[in-house]
Amino acid sequence: MKNILLKLIFTYDNQFISTFESDEVIDNYPRQVASAYSFVNPKKTAAPMLLAYSKSAAQQIGLTEEQALSDDFLQLFSGNNVPTGMQPFAMCYGGHQFGHWAGQLGDGRAINLAEIQTPSDGHKVLQLKGAGPTPYSRTADGFAVLRSSVREFLCSEAMYHLGIATTRALSISLTGDKVVRDMFYDGNSQAEFGAVVCRVSSSFIRFGSFQLPASRKDTDLVKQLVDYSIHRDFPHLGEPCKAAYLKWFEEICQRTCQLIVDWMRVGFVHGVMNTDNMSIIGETIDYGPYGWIDDFDLNWTPNTTDAQGKRYRFGAQAEIAQWNLFQLANAIFSLIEDAEPLQTALNNFAKNYHQMWQKMMASKLGIELTSELLTEEQLNLFVSLEDILMLVETDMTIFYRLLATLPDQNSKWLTHLMPCFYNEQQITDDYQINLNTWLINYVALRNQNTSSRVEIIASMNLVNPKFILRNYLAQQAIELAEQGDYSMIADLQKVLEKPYDEQTEFEHFAQKRPEWARNKAGCSMLSCSS
Ligand code: AMP
Ligand code: MG
Repeated sequence: MKNILLKLIFTYDNQFISTFESDEVIDNYPRQVASAYSFVNPKKTAAPMLLAYSKSAAQQIGLTEEQALSDDFLQLFSGNNVPTGMQPFAMCYGGHQFGHWAGQLGDGRAINLAEIQTPSDGHKVLQLKGAGPTPYSRTADGFAVLRSSVREFLCSEAMYHLGIATTRALSISLTGDKVVRDMFYDGNSQAEFGAVVCRVSSSFIRFGSFQLPASRKDTDLVKQLVDYSIHRDFPHLGEPCKAAYLKWFEEICQRTCQLIVDWMRVGFVHGVMNTDNMSIIGETIDYGPYGWIDDFDLNWTPNTTDAQGKRYRFGAQAEIAQWNLFQLANAIFSLIEDAEPLQTALNNFAKNYHQMWQKMMASKLGIELTSELLTEEQLNLFVSLEDILMLVETDMTIFYRLLATLPDQNSKWLTHLMPCFYNEQQITDDYQINLNTWLINYVALRNQNTSSRVEIIASMNLVNPKFILRNYLAQQAIELAEQGDYSMIADLQKVLEKPYDEQTEFEHFAQKRPEWARNKAGCSMLSCSS
């Protein structure tokens, strides 16, 4: 492996660390921190090994393939070598976890290596996840295991290629160290492979970043953070002032709304929408016990920690996002000192969500909208589909792809849609009548379109992915990786780069969840232990 001297390649801009005062304490031990961040170095690893990297994320930060395969890259992005000039730091934030205020949380196992200017994509922060303890690690170890790192790596990039706002994943490396985890908190601890993912984003600031200083009545820091966020990521809002603060909040509501609509479109369930896991720039952040919808179920949550309350279930994500935005509004109230416009923005979130959801559904179904307001017929069709999809176990992803190519003859509909059903026995006469009625209404509306059948199919396939990171596929890739076989990570990376394309050579990755995966840990149930 060549040494490429990556340190000479990056242009540091250090925007965050030069704006905010750092924690005065330099030693690395768990503590309460009043500042926005603490300097901390990643832990050296025993025997780092690069498992995979994302070519397009590397390109985004200006690295060539040769550089990404260099020893410098591995040493840097596994946390082993911090070149002169880099000043790694962990950020301080708080958050509501499962609806309860949790106080200071912070980057317990994330370390920002550097803030850089990329050649063509502006400012980016390079962040290691799983690179060892920080002052925010509380009682935990600061490390991450292979399984959760594979999940974060593959899903970040899958999300990006689906065209959904997300933090990127540049690389995943094994550390060569073992990490002990009790996966289901049942007393069965095991030593697992440690791994580090390098994430990339223009901002890792979270709703909880504002909540923590607000909870401490540190209004100066709240203001400084909001001003920074406006300058850095919302420059079009102009110089910070009361009006700009409000616009900033409104835009965060908008971006968050778009994000949730996108998640609903592709069947993504985040699983831990705590306010510390909500990005201020509206990106998907912190891939933990997330899951992808196999059979359409608005009540499904992948997170075993949430199995009782199902707070973060698929169908509740918009409501929870609004709840989280309400917490953000509280945190910045001191800057605006007027509850009414904040309340209006929150109310508009619900209104916007419904409108954007309707547009999204129209695009998924290939129904052209002729006005902003849906007809009653259209709205009924969209809403009743959710009931139909939940009557019997129906694979959401396969359903929409098949719906695009629904045959003209009514008599062929059921056979055509058969591959999306999980249990043939559920396809009773009653169900068939329900489905048929819905399809008749659907076809009638679709026939009112001005575009041709071919055009409709093409437009539907642009919003209905054929390939998602199915839970069982991620689990298979993990089990192979744990045996030292990384080929499935590479295959999934490849197929998920073009999720909307047919890619017939990868048909096996478009299959619905096999029966063995129905109740298997990792496939349908995940804990926060990672
Ligand atoms: P999460 O909900 O997974 O995003 O994590 C909630 C909080 O716990 C964050 O402050 C994390 O940094 C922290 N955390 C999670 N896992 C670990 C770990 N293994 N070591 C240290 N901190 C952790
Ligand atoms: Mg988190």
